[in-house]
Amino acid sequence: MKHNFGAGPCILPQEVFKQAAQAVLDFNDGLSILEISHRTSEFEAVVAEAEKLVKELLNVPSGYSVLFLQGGASLQFAMVPMNLLGDGQTASYLDSGVWATKALKEAKFVGNVNVVASSKEANYTYIPKDFEIPADSAYFHYTSNNTIYGTELFDVPATSVPVVCDMSSDIMSRVIDVSKFDLIYAGAQKNVGPAGLTIAIVKNEVLGKIDRKVPSMLNYQSHIDNGSMYNTPPVFSIYVALLNLRWLKSKGGVAQIEAENKAKAEALYREIDRNPLFKGTCKVEDRSRMNVCFVMENPELEKPFLKYAEENGIVGIKGHRSVGGFRASLYNALPITSVHALVEAMQLFEEKQA
Ligand code: PMP
Repeated sequence: MKHNFGAGPCILPQEVFKQAAQAVLDFNDGLSILEISHRTSEFEAVVAEAEKLVKELLNVPSGYSVLFLQGGASLQFAMVPMNLLGDGQTASYLDSGVWATKALKEAKFVGNVNVVASSKEANYTYIPKDFEIPADSAYFHYTSNNTIYGTELFDVPATSVPVVCDMSSDIMSRVIDVSKFDLIYAGAQKNVGPAGLTIAIVKNEVLGKIDRKVPSMLNYQSHIDNGSMYNTPPVFSIYVALLNLRWLKSKGGVAQIEAENKAKAEALYREIDRNPLFKGTCKVEDRSRMNVCFVMENPELEKPFLKYAEENGIVGIKGHRSVGGFRASLYNALPITSVHALVEAMQLFEEKQA
C-alpha cells in the first residue's frame, strides 16, 4: 500500500473504496450505482442521507441549505458574485493565494471588487492580518486553507457583512461555526469525496437580494428548490461522498478527526523544524494542518529525497510548481502511520547524508 500525500483528488478511506467498488457491481437488487436513475427512491435516499450527514457533522443551523453541485469550486468563483453581487455593488476579497486570486478574477466579470489585503509580495507565505472590510461590501470572500502554499486561516474574520468562504481543502477537517458564514463552498475532492461534486452550504436569507436574472443552473435558488436535483446530479460522486461521510461519523465526527489532524500536522512540522536538512516555507502561526509545505536547505538534495521517499512508498509529496520543494497533504483519510513513515524517511535520509 502507498502512503498517498496527494493534494487532491486524494486518499479516501480504504473501506470507502471497497464499498464504492461493490456498489458499481451491485448497489441495489443487482443494479449498479452507475445505471440507476437519479429519480429512484433509492438514490433520493442517498441524497437525503448525504445532506443529513453534512448538516449533522458540521452542526449546520436551521435556515441553511446544503447543495450538491457540479463545476468544481472554480464554478463557485463565478456563481457567488452572480448570486450575491448586485449592480453597482462592491465585494471584498482577501487575496491569500492563487485560488483566492482566481475567485476575485471571476467576481470582476460581474461587479466591483475590493482586495482588502494580499500576501502576494511574499509568495503567499502568510495570511494577511489587520485588514479592514468596508461595511458597505456586498460580501467578504476568503479562502480558509490555501492548498498550494500551506497556510490556513482558523478564525473567521470579524465583519458585519455576509461572509463567503472557499473551504475546498479544509472542510470537514476541523470544527467550524457555520452560523458565522453566509455561504460555504468546497470542491469535494479532498475531505468530502471524489472529484465531480461540489458542496455548497447557503444561508437561505442571503439569496434573493439582488435584481440580476441568473440562468437556472447558476442560480442557487433553483438547486435549493429542486433538492439538488434540478438536473442529473453526479450520482456516483454523491454516493461515494455519502460513504465517506458515514466513515467520518463512525470515527466520531469532525471533532475527533480534528484531534487526529492536529496530531498528524504536529508530528510532521516537528520533524521539519528539527531536521537540519529541511525547512518550512510559511509563517509558523499560519501553518496549515492540511497541506504541509517545506523545502530543503540544499535544493540539490530535493530530487534525491523525492526518489528516496518514493522508494519507500511515499507518493504525492512533490510541491506545487509555484512553491517548489515538497507538499505533504494530510487529509482526513491519511493515517498517522503514513506521517510516521514520512518522518522516518526524513530521519533516515538525514543519517545517509551525515
Ligand atoms: N479552491 C481551493 C482552495 C482549491 O484547493 C482548489 C483546487 N484544489 C480550488 C479552489 C479549485 O477547485 P476545483 O478544481 O474543484 O474547481
